[in-house]
Amino acid sequence: MADQIRIIVEHFVDGNLTEQTIILNKEMGKVSSISELGFNHQQQMDLIKACQDALLKIQSQDLQSDIQFCPKCGAKLKLAGHALSHFHAVFSDHKVSVKRKKCCNNKCGWTSVPSISSLFNTNAHPDLSKLQTEMACNHTYREAQYILNAISYGSPRFCVAKRQSQSIDFA
Ligand SMILES: [Zn+2]
Repeated sequence: MADQIRIIVEHFVDGNLTEQTIILNKEMGKVSSISELGFNHQQQMDLIKACQDALLKIQSQDLQSDIQFCPKCGAKLKLAGHALSHFHAVFSDHKVSVKRKKCCNNKCGWTSVPSISSLFNTNAHPDLSKLQTEMACNHTYREAQYILNAISYGSPRFCVAKRQSQSIDFA
């Protein structure tokens, strides 16, 4: 009999299932070496990234600035699509949708340029910033960069502790 595992993220609203996202579908054979036991490093990072993307997709439904009126002419603002913005978590990088707003006054035409940075003053999760700072305190810049990049396995976690006073910006 062929063994298979499936990892699914389920989204519930008021207890009702609204969406299922398959994160992983894997057929398994007999394990013949230690490297085949469990998920390898790359597979673990891919799982984290896929789970994060599923969570971020739901959270992004509410991501928008609180601004209600046009800063240029004072007219009311309306929602006008969305913009994709970079977000850097501890182990993975993501593009998150943020709602865009547009001025109702057609003669004005002002449109917001929303991003994770404009909403939260940074696009890096504090846990990543903390890890970068701790690494930089105990290693040279080059060593810290190497260690963080090795841990994340493919998603560069650039060490920016040398410019901690600035917002952390990868993109
Ligand atoms: Zn306006």
